[in-house]
Amino acid sequence: MIDNLLKATIRDIVDFPKPGIVFKDITPILKNAHLCNLVIEEFATRLKEVHFDVVAGIESRGFLFGLMLANHLGIPFVPIRKEGKLPAQTTKQSYDLEYGSATIEMHTDAFEPGARVLIHDDLLATGGTVVAASKLIQQLGGIIAGYSFVISLDFLNGRQRLLPYSNQLISLVS
Ligand code: 5GP
Repeated sequence: MIDNLLKATIRDIVDFPKPGIVFKDITPILKNAHLCNLVIEEFATRLKEVHFDVVAGIESRGFLFGLMLANHLGIPFVPIRKEGKLPAQTTKQSYDLEYGSATIEMHTDAFEPGARVLIHDDLLATGGTVVAASKLIQQLGGIIAGYSFVISLDFLNGRQRLLPYSNQLISLVS
């Protein structure tokens, strides 16, 4: 099963980025081209019933499998970036962090209004980032078709926070 393969490959890094946090490091997956292909095939299979026109990946680790998936499916990939990184006209959305706040943005021409968008990130924790991404996509007239994550930390209840936007959520490891 791919979840066991992934669990054996993802590294736990203790006290990163600060003391008390155990960080799930997905970079070992990227070193294994065969496993990357299995990840994409698994996403594609599990998303078969979810109809979407575009994949939106969240900076920066959401770009990795997000782009691979979009390419595999032959559909567009669009980036959701931290403030100040995208060159053309953007729309912004701010959200609260444990300390302070953050802002993400997308190009206003990322997709056509009415497009069905799959939001992809490497990991779902509290859901704060993807809720902000969902609002951003709705602001641009997009429909949230669903979510895909390599990992979801289910004890943090991020899944519940996403239900008002879409109940289609795929995660390969939880
Ligand atoms: P949330 O907003 O759901 O609390 O946090 C999710 C965001 O933080 C994602 O963009 C994810 O990349 C990043 N993140 C938080 N903790 C981890 C972790 O342990 N490993 C990885 N790879 N990303 C994390």
